[in-house]
Amino acid sequence: MKKTIREIKDFKGKRVLLRCDFNVPLDHWGDILNPARIDAALPTISYLIQKGARLIVCSHLGRPKGFDKYLSLFPVAVYLMKHFPNRVKFSSKVIGPEVDEAVAKLKNGEILLLENLRFENGETENSPAFVRELANLCDIYVDDAFGVAHRKQASNYGVALKKPNAIGFLIEKELKVFDEAFKKPAHPFVAIFGGAKVDDKLTLINNVLDMADTILIGGGMAYTFLQAEGISIGKSIVSHDLVGEAKAILERAKEKGIKILLPVDHVVVENGRTRKVRRPEIEGDAIGLDIGPKTIQLFSQEIAKAKQIIWNGPVGKYEDSYFRKGTVKLAKAVAKSGAYSIVGGGDSVSAIEEAGVSDKISHLSTGGGASMKLMEGKTLPAIEVIDSI
Ligand code: ADP
Ligand code: MG
Repeated sequence: MKKTIREIKDFKGKRVLLRCDFNVPLDHWGDILNPARIDAALPTISYLIQKGARLIVCSHLGRPKGFDKYLSLFPVAVYLMKHFPNRVKFSSKVIGPEVDEAVAKLKNGEILLLENLRFENGETENSPAFVRELANLCDIYVDDAFGVAHRKQASNYGVALKKPNAIGFLIEKELKVFDEAFKKPAHPFVAIFGGAKVDDKLTLINNVLDMADTILIGGGMAYTFLQAEGISIGKSIVSHDLVGEAKAILERAKEKGIKILLPVDHVVVENGRTRKVRRPEIEGDAIGLDIGPKTIQLFSQEIAKAKQIIWNGPVGKYEDSYFRKGTVKLAKAVAKSGAYSIVGGGDSVSAIEEAGVSDKISHLSTGGGASMKLMEGKTLPAIEVIDSI
């Protein structure tokens, strides 16, 4: 078990460096389009300031190479000011004498938000000099940035090695959800997989194959599986070199008595025109971009029977309104099922939000890559370096 902030008894007057994931979408005016990631960190922030910590909060935003005025964390500071009136200060620098001075002036229960960590190259490079600067700011380090926990960067991996540390409530919850879902799954356990390519998801499917009862495969990755079954797929996206692997997965599932369902009809585009293909085979130049109505029905029946569902990857090119229906209908089926449901993956979570059913999903993971790693049964490097209890 990893140490959480609950296990650290004395925060009063301590300088606490808290790494959050405030990588929120902004428009050109600096307005926050979706504050979900900030909201997810509020319980940890509240707890630490109530305990009298002198809180230094840091995060990245986007992928700047050096300073970029459109990727400043100032809008996040403004958002935090509304939640914690008269307690929040913003530092336009990430490290350096001005930051040291601002930290020295912090009173118990006050918050200093540092500017975007990635304005400093040392962050992603996990450079020793940058790690040292961050470590010198604090007495205790707290990691609550689940979204980057699969990466070894200065502000999570590097600093954790240098200081007494713990995880915050958000990471604690994310770890608990995936741990319980995989160690003690409720059955029937249905896994839904989609997304563009099968390449980065094979490990995930293989891991789930050991515990799920039914696996529903849609989206771009379905075509590699259909090809493996000898079904024509037209010009749909396919990973030729992984067809053998897909075949092996289908065979393993059969041996284990696990049901894998593939699309039985499609929405395709051909010569710029969209139409339905009412059978598994896709001919000619047609490209499959969404599951068809029969597949929606077939998959929804399985979803309705489930007691536990995990979902990674939209089952169609959902960004495009013509190919959104399959994903939206399945999202609604998941919401209606009453099953314990976990959705992980950047696009998957946006698709759920777009379908308007976020509040009916048991757990929407805040980390795309990190949640994928947990679904693969792997550990996260930034969490490995946190003290155990
Ligand atoms: P997540 O971010 O949830 O892990 P992925 O990034 O793996 O999901 O997959 C999402 C992407 O897959 C989206 O960009 C979507 O357009 C694409 N996609 C889904 N189905 C298809 C398809 N049939 N053909 C091409 N791309 C697809
Ligand atoms: Mg994605």
